[in-house]
Amino acid sequence: MIITVASFKGGVGKTTTAVHLAAYLHQNKETLLVDGDQNRSAMTWAKPGKLPFKVVSDVQMAKYIRQFEHIVIDTQARPTKEDLQELADSCELLILPTTPKGLDLDALLRTVDVLQQMNANFKVLLTIIPPAPSQAGKEAREMLQAENIPVFQAEIKRLVAFERAPLEGVIVRDYPDPRAEAAWAGYEELGKEILA
Ligand code: ADP
Repeated sequence: MIITVASFKGGVGKTTTAVHLAAYLHQNKETLLVDGDQNRSAMTWAKPGKLPFKVVSDVQMAKYIRQFEHIVIDTQARPTKEDLQELADSCELLILPTTPKGLDLDALLRTVDVLQQMNANFKVLLTIIPPAPSQAGKEAREMLQAENIPVFQAEIKRLVAFERAPLEGVIVRDYPDPRAEAAWAGYEELGKEILA
């Protein structure tokens, strides 16, 4: 399966999602993470050599792609309409992470508009959701559902472990923090939903 993670805005958890989804899928089948973002955030994350799966740049991708069952692609932020068309054409599932913030949702809706016009197979993932008493996550989900936009049941809470884990070169599952398990559980739910 080829899964692409894309977003129009930066800072919505695109790389975090690509890395943790690759980690989940790799538990059962050889998974390759392709870093197609010019910031090379995923490559930097992988540098200490502690991620459980292989990470290569989009330039190196051709050499490795045949050896893997699953490919997760982290893409360049701010894709153009043409980029989105190519991304949608070249994968089985396009994941669009967004935080529940108004500006991020606005950017998401514009991306969704383009994807709906091309009948792309995409699904939205709510990320960096603030804890109760905030209702932001719930309200964002209701808005997306009211617009008939496909959204994963799984959602990713805002947790400090997500900010710290990359600094250690690990995924949250392997980060020594009491909340790390809760953080990993969100991406486990996402992985299960995708493979169901
Ligand atoms: P993008 O690839 O969309 O720019 P990143 O995955 O790099 O987004 O995340 C942006 C910032 O937010 C990073 O500092 C990251 O550690 C942090 N982050 C991502 N997901 C979460 C989360 N669920 N909770 C808290 N911080 C998060």
